[in-house]
Amino acid sequence: MIGVLVSGAAGRMGREVVRAVMAEPDLALVGVVDPAHAGETLGEGSGLVIAGDLATAIATTAPDVVVDFTHPSVVEGNIRTVLAAGVDCVVGTTGISQERLESLADTAPEGTCLFVAPNFAIGAVLMMRFAAEAARHLPHVEIIELHHDRKADAPSGTALRTASLIAASRPGVPDAPGKETEVAEGARGALVDDVTVHSVRLPGLVAHQEVIFGGQGQTLSIRHDSIDRTSFMPGVVLAIRSVGARSGLVVGLEHLMEASRG
Ligand code: NAD
Repeated sequence: MIGVLVSGAAGRMGREVVRAVMAEPDLALVGVVDPAHAGETLGEGSGLVIAGDLATAIATTAPDVVVDFTHPSVVEGNIRTVLAAGVDCVVGTTGISQERLESLADTAPEGTCLFVAPNFAIGAVLMMRFAAEAARHLPHVEIIELHHDRKADAPSGTALRTASLIAASRPGVPDAPGKETEVAEGARGALVDDVTVHSVRLPGLVAHQEVIFGGQGQTLSIRHDSIDRTSFMPGVVLAIRSVGARSGLVVGLEHLMEASRG
């Protein structure tokens, strides 16, 4: 059995992770943390009381893995606490730079894994892979990411990752209309790794992204839609099962997907 503690357990993603962990026969939900809901009994049939302090909860429940879906403003502190206890950490919270992740992973004791995925949906990982492939041949590209209106960060972690994969694979940065054509500020979006990214925030959305390539007389659109937060759960469960055999910083579900295919 793999003992799992969920940090951010009362949130939209945290509640889904709790349900996913309880549904797997080889995973045991040993603890739940969410300071804003400390002392409340968690629903989802777990019967667990929500703890307010992560370090204390780790000390009392001795998890094998902590899963964090919280907020960009607290996630770094949480990761530091988990790694300091020598516990593997699976992070879905977005908004941490690669440099910060590397320096956090440096604090981990030997054999401890910090696994981070900007997107745990397998379809989104494939969308990023296909976008990187297309960018080799169609370098003119823009990203439109669409999320629910309570998302804390913009652009999304998925858009940042997609832009970085495109930048690494396309042969160069093509000339394209930039900010100089803007009549209203922001109309041309933000530049990430020289890729233009537009962020849409609306109620009713979950997590969506379209990558649009333009070429002579043609466009190619690669789109992924998470229409429900259960879309992320097979990836989260795969990460929980995989981190025990890993060490150090691993970023991206693609690394685990390939390994799980054998
Ligand atoms: P949410 O606001 O619904 O939930 C966050 C929860 O964290 C809240 O219940 C809050 O009380 C709790 N929290 C705040 N500070 C805490 C702390 N110090 N310790 C423990 N819990 C704390 O947010 P959400 O929609 O569940 O999203 C959470 C994060 O996950 C966001 O960064 C979001 O972008 C990210 N996300 C990632 C993926 C992915 O596939 N990687 C998918 C969806 C969302």
